[in-house]
Amino acid sequence: MLEKIYTIPINEAFDASAADRAKGCPFCALKERLENDELELILGASMMEPDVRIKTNDQGFCRRHLDEMTRRRNRLGLALMLESHLDELKKDMADPALSGITGGKGKKACERIARLEKSCYVCARAENSLSHMFENAALLWETELEFAAKLKAQPYFCLPHYRRFIEAGRENISKKRFSDFYADLSGVELSYFDELRGDVSLFAKKFDYRYENEPWGNAKDAIERAVRFLGDSDGNKDK
Ligand SMILES: [Zn+2]
Ligand SMILES: [Zn+2]
Repeated sequence: MLEKIYTIPINEAFDASAADRAKGCPFCALKERLENDELELILGASMMEPDVRIKTNDQGFCRRHLDEMTRRRNRLGLALMLESHLDELKKDMADPALSGITGGKGKKACERIARLEKSCYVCARAENSLSHMFENAALLWETELEFAAKLKAQPYFCLPHYRRFIEAGRENISKKRFSDFYADLSGVELSYFDELRGDVSLFAKKFDYRYENEPWGNAKDAIERAVRFLGDSDGNKDK
C-alpha cells in the first residue's frame, strides 16, 4: 500500500540522485537516512522506554552502529544502555546446571554470541522501513507516470538494491506491467555497467605510459565508484 511516510522520502532521494549523479544509488541514500533517524531516536527520545530497552538488551548493535553511537552525544545514555545489555548477555551465556556432566559447557555462550553477531537493533529497524521503501517505490512506478520517468533518470542502483528493487517489482506490480518495469530498471543498470566498465578499464590503462596523455574523463574515481556499485558498504546486516 502506498504510504506518504515512505513515498515522500523516496521521491526526495530519487530527485536528488537524478539531479546529481554523484549521489549514486537512491536506496543507499534512503538507507543512510533511515539509519540516521534510528540513531537519533535511540540516543534521544526512545532510549529510556522500557520496551525499547528490552530490544536493545536482546539485539545489541553491529560494530558500525556502535561506532556511530560513540561519535554522537549522550554518552551517559549509551553507558546506561550498554550496562543493561552486558548484564543480559552475561546472564544468557551462563552454563545451565549439569552442563559440566553432559559435556555442554560453553555451548550456551557460543549460541548466544553467534546470535548476537547477527543482530543489531538499528539495522533491524532501518531494514524494516527500507523494505517498505522498495515496495512503495515499485507501487509508485506503477501508479505515477512522473515517477516512472524519475526511475529512468537514476544514475544506477547498487547491485544489492537492484536485486531488491526487481524483487519488489515482481511482488507488487501487476504481471502485465512487470516486464516494462524490468525493462526500465535494467536499462538504467546495464548502461551504468558499461560506463563503469569503461572507466575502470581506462583507469587501468593510465598506468601504461602509452596512455599517459590520454584524458582521464570520468575514470579518476572509477575504483571507488565500482566499490559503491558492487554493494552495500557493510554488507552483513542488509538482507
Ligand atoms: Zn544501494
Ligand atoms: Zn547495525
